[in-house]
Amino acid sequence: MPTPAQRSRSFRKKKVNTPSGKAMIHYLKKKPGPARCAVCKLPLHGVPSDLPARIRKLSKTKKRPSRPYGGNLCPACTRQAIKSKNMARWKND
Ligand SMILES: [Zn+2]
Repeated sequence: MPTPAQRSRSFRKKKVNTPSGKAMIHYLKKKPGPARCAVCKLPLHGVPSDLPARIRKLSKTKKRPSRPYGGNLCPACTRQAIKSKNMARWKND
């Protein structure tokens, strides 16, 4: 029987065979879903989805694409945003 804290469906269960031959269940935290585009909600590429503690260990360049709106908008929506009114705001920056 797992400890009361582990009696929750928010844990992912992994069956593990220990060296002693016992079959055990390991309770792991679930990973969050993929990062999605803020406009069209498509999953973003180049943005890792993992536990925040592990994401924090990554370098900044491994967390999102290094282009304007990288990690926030998908390429198609980025193109639209740049072509529309937002372009004027950019030139001032
Ligand atoms: Zn999009």
